[in-house]
Amino acid sequence: MNIILLGAPGAGKGTQATRIEENYGLTHISTGDIFRRHMRRQTEIGEEARSYIKKGLLVPDEVTLKIVKSALDEVHGKNFMLDGFPRNLNQAQQLDGIAKIDKVIDIRVDFDILTDRICGRRSCLDCGYTTHISVLGGANTCPKCGCEMTQRVDDREETVRSRLQVYATQTASLVEYYEKQGKLFTVDGMGTPDEVFAEIKKVLG
Ligand SMILES: [Zn+2]
Repeated sequence: MNIILLGAPGAGKGTQATRIEENYGLTHISTGDIFRRHMRRQTEIGEEARSYIKKGLLVPDEVTLKIVKSALDEVHGKNFMLDGFPRNLNQAQQLDGIAKIDKVIDIRVDFDILTDRICGRRSCLDCGYTTHISVLGGANTCPKCGCEMTQRVDDREETVRSRLQVYATQTASLVEYYEKQGKLFTVDGMGTPDEVFAEIKKVLG
């Protein structure tokens, strides 16, 4: 069984991906991780991707597809879980030409709650400890090392709202595409990680 994991930023996709990988033995293919690895190693594809990112442009679908294709070649026919791809309808259609997808799991969380989750994130610049502002109880110091906790520029409300809007716009046609094929399974992402995973298990069997 090959699956795709969908979910807006902050919806807890990473946590669930780890659990699915452990419980179902699916190879986790995270396009974000693969891009970063290629860029670190300065491979041809990595450099190509970097040239767009440097200019503040989106990496074109054909470059992303190349990355995904190479990752799929590496799994040698083992079952996999795609995370971060496809992002739009064109990518989904292209993907159908190179792999067979059985199920698409869409983890849904209300956007206001996601905004609160992401905007409330605070990280320690010194040790990297990250938590939600509600846990800090009004203090602005790291519970691990005592240094100052700060909010990432990317996590400011305006940025988060526009990021979520872009995600919603891009994935709407994608969701519809898989819905028509009878492959889409929507999972309520509002619960605890255990509750969300219980829902996913019902889908995956
Ligand atoms: Zn710290």
